[in-house]
Amino acid sequence: MISRRAIVAGLAASAAASAALAWPLLRGPRPVAIPPPRFPDLAAPPLTPPALLFPAVFGLRRVLVDPGHGAPGNAGNRSSYCIDEQDFTLRAARALADRLRDTGHFDVRLARDGDARVDYRARVEDAARWGAEVFLSLHSDVRGATGERWSPEPGSDCPTSLAAPGFSVLWSDEGAPALCAQRHALARALARRMCETGFVAYGGVEYGDLYAVDPDSPGVFVDRHAPDQRIFVLRRTAMPSALIETHHALDPREARRWEEPSTHDAFAAAVAAALIEALGT
Ligand SMILES: [Zn+2]
Repeated sequence: MISRRAIVAGLAASAAASAALAWPLLRGPRPVAIPPPRFPDLAAPPLTPPALLFPAVFGLRRVLVDPGHGAPGNAGNRSSYCIDEQDFTLRAARALADRLRDTGHFDVRLARDGDARVDYRARVEDAARWGAEVFLSLHSDVRGATGERWSPEPGSDCPTSLAAPGFSVLWSDEGAPALCAQRHALARALARRMCETGFVAYGGVEYGDLYAVDPDSPGVFVDRHAPDQRIFVLRRTAMPSALIETHHALDPREARRWEEPSTHDAFAAAVAAALIEALGT
């Protein structure tokens, strides 16, 4: 088990890195070059949400936000704070929906809410019935779990890993070429806007052959599971779709940052900027 002290030391390391950047004011040789801290380090610069420039004729666009999991018998992963993925994704989806609505340019529907357990086929069908123009599924990821445990609270016992942090955006190239091109453009816009905002893209090593990294777009991956195991909501939606793995659920640094309203503010702005690009006029 990783001790709580070790995790806290990891969280504090970013503060030490920040102090090292002040080295020119001190005497003596610089021992090593330390990269500047990045999200999710606490010493990283604040996230920088993009300014939203809506085209004059953009109108009110329909966006289906899918809180991942919460399907019958499918709660998703358990985070480094012992929170079920289905509970995190519902909170994240509500936060995103509220912020997108507040722009005045998005009509947002959640694929599930409250205690309802909704299977994925029903979500896809509901999106089409409602006339969604985009289907966005929110998740948190688990990659290369090491089996390590820690106790964020006295008496708790939760999985943890400081390896492989970062977001990823998944898409499917299965279906009509025109629709696939729209999915790809949406995934690329989402990842690019998240990077510009200060979120860090996951590199993909632990994905192995399950997803193929986009050589031109950090953080973008196309589904390469066996055909009968590919992600339903990505390949069976009639409108452009993408799945955002917001962070590595086993990383306490990321899980904690995703409890902060400022993280959701920045994320929603990044998503809105990507939607402006993807939906155009
Ligand atoms: Zn998930």
